[in-house]
Amino acid sequence: MPPEITPAPSAPMPSDADLRRLIHFSASDGRIWLAGHRMVLLHLSGLGSLRKELIRTIGVAQARRVLMRAGYESGVRDAALSRQVRPNANSFEQLTVGPQLHMLQGAVQVTPEDIQIDIEAGVYRGIFRWDQSWEVETHLRDFGPQTEPVCWMLLGYASGYTSALCGQSILYKEVQCAACGHEHCRIEGRPAREWPDAEQLKADYEEESLLVRIEDLQADLESLRVSLSPSDDLGELIGRSKAFEKSIELLRKAASTQVTVLLTGETGVGKERFARTLHAMSPRASKPFIAINCAALPHELIESELFGAEKGAFTGAGAARPGRFERADGGTLFLDELGELPPSAQAKLLRVLQTGEVERLGATAVRKVDVRVVAATNVDLEAAVAAGRFRRDLMYRLNVYPIAIPPLRDRVEDIEPLANHMLRHFMALHNKRVAGLSDRALDAMRNYAWPGNVRELENLIERGLIITPPGQMVDVDDLFAMAPAPPQVTLSASGELQKGAPADIDALYDELQRRGLSLEALEDGLIQQAVERAGGNLSAAARALGLTRPQLSYRLQRIREH
Ligand SMILES: [Zn+2]
Repeated sequence: MPPEITPAPSAPMPSDADLRRLIHFSASDGRIWLAGHRMVLLHLSGLGSLRKELIRTIGVAQARRVLMRAGYESGVRDAALSRQVRPNANSFEQLTVGPQLHMLQGAVQVTPEDIQIDIEAGVYRGIFRWDQSWEVETHLRDFGPQTEPVCWMLLGYASGYTSALCGQSILYKEVQCAACGHEHCRIEGRPAREWPDAEQLKADYEEESLLVRIEDLQADLESLRVSLSPSDDLGELIGRSKAFEKSIELLRKAASTQVTVLLTGETGVGKERFARTLHAMSPRASKPFIAINCAALPHELIESELFGAEKGAFTGAGAARPGRFERADGGTLFLDELGELPPSAQAKLLRVLQTGEVERLGATAVRKVDVRVVAATNVDLEAAVAAGRFRRDLMYRLNVYPIAIPPLRDRVEDIEPLANHMLRHFMALHNKRVAGLSDRALDAMRNYAWPGNVRELENLIERGLIITPPGQMVDVDDLFAMAPAPPQVTLSASGELQKGAPADIDALYDELQRRGLSLEALEDGLIQQAVERAGGNLSAAARALGLTRPQLSYRLQRIREH
C-alpha cells in the first residue's frame, strides 16, 4: 500500500472543538482536567525558574534529558486520547491531536509543514514549524542567545506522542531553533531505525540517573521478595499503608511459629491471600495448604469434609475418604468463615485442636495429624459467643493470635499500586494492552468507599480493562457504571470559560430530535416541571430556572393562553 501522502506545505489541521471539550475547570475543588488527566495551570515564569535551577544544579546535558523525558511522558498520555477523541479519523487527523493539544496547553504554536503518515503501514515522516515556544522564551530570558536548540520538553513531547500513536519509536530532532537566531523552530521526526544516529537519539530517553538506579534496585528487591514467597497468584500482598503494614508485620512474626492465627476483616479484604502468604512464609511452605469455606458447605457435609469418613458412615459415603485435616497433614488448614461452623462440628474441631487427633465419621480409631490451623471470620466471634452460636472454649482456642485486616477504604494509598498490579495481571490474562489508569479514574477510586474491598477493586479493574479499547487509558466511566458528573465549566472557541458542558447540549439536542419536540414545547415543559417541583412556589421555580419572578409569570401567562 503506498503511503498516505498529505499535501505539503501546511495541510490544514481539523477543528480542535473536540479537544477543547475535553478541558474542564473544576475550580471548586482546585482541579483542571484534560479528559481523564489532571492538569496544572502554571505561571511560565514559575516553570521557567524550575527549568533554570535544574540547568544550574545538574548541568545543561542532564537537565536537557530530564526535560525531554518529562515531555515524552506527557506526549504518551496525550496519544492515548487521540484514538478516543477521533476514532474514525484518518492517520493525519489523529496525528494532529498532539500538536493541537500542545497548542491548547499553551506550549507552542505548531504548523505542520510536510507530513507523511500511514499508521497501519508503519510509515512516518513529519516536519513541523514551531513558533511561540515557551522554552525559547524562558531560555533566552535566562541565558541569552544559544548555539544549540533548547526546546527539549517540547521535543520530548513530540517524540512521546508520535511514538505512542504509531506504536513504534519515532524520534524528532530540532533542526532549527529560534533560540539560536532562526526565525522559527523546526523539528523533523522519523522512525528511530531511519535515523543514522538513532542510538545517540534514543540514549536521551533512557533513564540512568543515580536516583533511577536506586529505584530500580528497590524494585528488584521488592520483586525478589515477592518471588521468594511462592504464593504468586494475583494479590501477593501489596501495600504500603500504615494499617496494612501493621497486619503484615503481625503475619511475619507469626509465620515462623506454630501459633494458631485468626484473621478478621470485612468480606473481600483478602483473608485467604493472607492465609496463603502465612503458609508460604512458614517452615511448612513445601507441605499442603488446604482451604475450606465453612459457609459454602451444607451442615450435613461439613464434618465429613473436615474430618473424613469411613465407608458407609452415612448415606452416600461409598468409599472411605480422608478429610481436609488429614490432607493438610504437615501443612496448613485454612478455615474460612469460621463463624458459620455448626455446633457439632465446633465440638469436634475443638477436640482436634486439643489432641492433635482426627476421628473420621464412622471410624473406631483416631489418626494423629500435624496441622497448623488458620481461621478467618468476618463476624464478631465475641458477639456470636454471647448469642450462643459459637463455643466460648473454641473461640479462646482459636483467638490466640488475631490479625485484623483493614478494609480497603482505610488503605487509600494502596489503591494505586494494587490497581496497577491487577491491571498488569489482567492484561496478561486477557492478552490485551491498555495505556494504564487515568488520573481521574485513580481519583474516583480513592474517593470510593469499597464495600466489597479488594475483591471489588479486582472486579472493577477487570471490567475496565475489557471495556477500554486497546492502547487507551482506562477512564472513570470504564470502571464505574455510575460515573461522577463531569465538571461543568469548559473552554469556548474564543478561549473563555463557559458554563454548561457542550457535550450535554449535544445529548439534549439529540434527545429533542428523537422526540420531535419543538423549542417552545421544551420551554413550556421545563417551566411547568419547575413550578410543579417547587410545589407551586413561583419564586422558587423562577430561581431554579434562572429567571426573575415577573419573567416566569409572563411565560406562565403565555402557556395558559395557548
Ligand atoms: Zn526551539
